[in-house]
Amino acid sequence: MNPTIQLICKGHHAEYELKNIINLFMPYIENEYLIETIYDDETVSVYLFLEGVLARERQKKLVLIRDESKHKRQVREALKQLVYDTLCELTKKEMPWGILTGIRPTKIVHDYLAENKKEAEIGEILKSEYRVHDSKIKLLIEVAKREIDVLQRNQKDEVSIYIGIPFCPTRCVYCSFTSYAIDKKKTLVEDYLEALFKEIDYIAEAKKHVPVRSLYVGGGTPTSLNEDQLQRLLTHIKSRFDLRHIEEYTVEAGRPDTITKEKLRIMKALGVSRISINPQSMNQKTLDVIGRKHSVEDISTVFHLARECGHTNINMDIILGLPGESKEDVENTLQELEKLSPDSITVHTMAVKRASRLKEESERYLLTEAQNIELMLSLCETYLLKMGLNPYYLYRQKNMLGNFENVGYAKTGMECLYNIEIMEEKQTILALGAGAITKIVYQNGERIDRVPNVKNVEEYIMRIDEMIERKKQGFIKYQ
Ligand code: SF4
Repeated sequence: MNPTIQLICKGHHAEYELKNIINLFMPYIENEYLIETIYDDETVSVYLFLEGVLARERQKKLVLIRDESKHKRQVREALKQLVYDTLCELTKKEMPWGILTGIRPTKIVHDYLAENKKEAEIGEILKSEYRVHDSKIKLLIEVAKREIDVLQRNQKDEVSIYIGIPFCPTRCVYCSFTSYAIDKKKTLVEDYLEALFKEIDYIAEAKKHVPVRSLYVGGGTPTSLNEDQLQRLLTHIKSRFDLRHIEEYTVEAGRPDTITKEKLRIMKALGVSRISINPQSMNQKTLDVIGRKHSVEDISTVFHLARECGHTNINMDIILGLPGESKEDVENTLQELEKLSPDSITVHTMAVKRASRLKEESERYLLTEAQNIELMLSLCETYLLKMGLNPYYLYRQKNMLGNFENVGYAKTGMECLYNIEIMEEKQTILALGAGAITKIVYQNGERIDRVPNVKNVEEYIMRIDEMIERKKQGFIKYQ
């Protein structure tokens, strides 16, 4: 028998949202169930059947709202609550984020803060209506308040820029990004840079009077370019954009095995103000399992080298739930990072994404259970607060182990502006390169137009003129 929950929807259109709620509980389901959800006569009802026999039922009478879209939302939220409560009761499990399944939970807090609601009131709504746990409510409100400091300084017409370099030395087991092992694609890199420079030139000309608040070169691993290519890329960026007043310029140095003293010097000389060196784990056995071709010592050596080269804002990423890692392993990683004292640390919870090797070969890896992840997250919080790092941005992904979150922690004043902007969608982000998605933001985020580039590198190179044309059309609507 395959544990399943079949969903039937009558009188409403909340099927997608209800499926997301049901998916949260699937790891804990042991039988074949059917859930019937109905909206009728101002009442929402949920019936749970086991082998055709009614096992549980819940109803809620709604107070009718005249506005149609608000009414639809009311029905949807009420059904989500009932399905969630039914499944909590059935499985004896609660989810840390309750019925919040979106990737940007802080947006809700920003909306309530904009309505001048008090923190305690917002906390109460998150708890009673969204079923969010107390620890997450505290985190959400703390992060939202820190984000406000950054968002309030957004100037009208100001943008941020993202430039993607979709190459890495090798592919990590958990990766689902658009990224190519650079050794296998050497001949493509030059063609890619040529196409990218064309797109940079177009944007620089089309937006020459637009102030740039932050610039982010991500990937992939931008430092997997060789020294000459990296120098040419950063020189090109510097020659096309006015970086004199930019608040933040990040390059993801990512994998330590791609970083050399010369690359660190090039980045510093060409205006980069923030870099990210991402160990993911400071345990050698884990680095070997996830496909990293470097040692733990290499990470520390490169970090010190970066400091020597004048990099005063360094982020480090770690991942919780890596194959075979225990709480003790995570503690070891945190102790090693404490010795380095980076300016920010981003804590990711492993997400098993469809396009990753981890998904394809999941049976080979022992995945960490939700309970362990919770312990690891609270261990991180304890260590990072002790290191003087505070949570400043957070987001969630689908298929995260234990349905948790990713949180960025930073020393005061070292928060990554770009991370906040991309999460809160209050500022236009012009995104260049294969797979990059430009987001044109109107009226402080009330409407967002997306202009995507193709993901495949060969396609991007071949169709670069079409990518530029797409942007042109997007900007025409924007004017
Ligand atoms: S370094 Fe990042 S982008 Fe590159 S393969 Fe690993 S996870 Fe993917």
